[in-house]
Amino acid sequence: MRVLVCSDIHANLPALDAMLEDAGQVDAVWCLGDVVGYGPDPNECVARIKALPECLCLAGNHDWAALGKLDLENFNADARRAVIWTRDQLTPESRQFLEERPERLGPLGERYTLAHGSPRYPIWEYILDTRTARVAFDHFDTQVCFVGHSHVPAIFRLKSEQVELVLPVPDEPIVLNEGRYIVNPGGVGQPRDGDPRASYLVLDTEANSVTYRRVAYPIEEVQRRMIEARLPVRMIARLSYGW
Ligand code: ZN
Repeated sequence: MRVLVCSDIHANLPALDAMLEDAGQVDAVWCLGDVVGYGPDPNECVARIKALPECLCLAGNHDWAALGKLDLENFNADARRAVIWTRDQLTPESRQFLEERPERLGPLGERYTLAHGSPRYPIWEYILDTRTARVAFDHFDTQVCFVGHSHVPAIFRLKSEQVELVLPVPDEPIVLNEGRYIVNPGGVGQPRDGDPRASYLVLDTEANSVTYRRVAYPIEEVQRRMIEARLPVRMIARLSYGW
């Protein structure tokens, strides 16, 4: 089975569409949350995800914030403005879809767990270093856990009680053998690793391998829509640089 694994679309429709086109025919889509927040097209992105066959989609912190399920004190000023703007845009259908998203899923195919941030605190915790990753490995039972939230593509591998960080290179399949793994596909709608292109991966469940992909999309189009919506300037600018 070929599974498209992605996270953090953040209401960026051109990035989402570019990714879906680039991936082509897949057997399933696993979306790790934050479909909305930051970008100009929350309802359109929810509708796109909802319409995909065989799609599993989690809740992320921005989804919860837009639903009023998280305290806005935890967001910086720009993120807070974007959350409030998003909250005002959401249709009842979009709200309902986001309300129904689970915090965590698994085991899938006996081998995989899904969480937005981490298996320990799915909505909020960032796994950015090997120490946090080591703790996270104690909070799921499967061989592999996919997480998003940091918008940075990364693979943490646990072998003989040691965690190593592997920075994945696009288009080179990585077989997930010998050990356990926490795998982050990077961000679709707001990458933060210095590469502005949308990031995602394709999981081949037979080979148990992941192949990362980067896809260019019309960034200026999203930026124009964000200017029209009067979203924060810093958020509009960062899309050009991928930070
Ligand atoms: Zn996010």
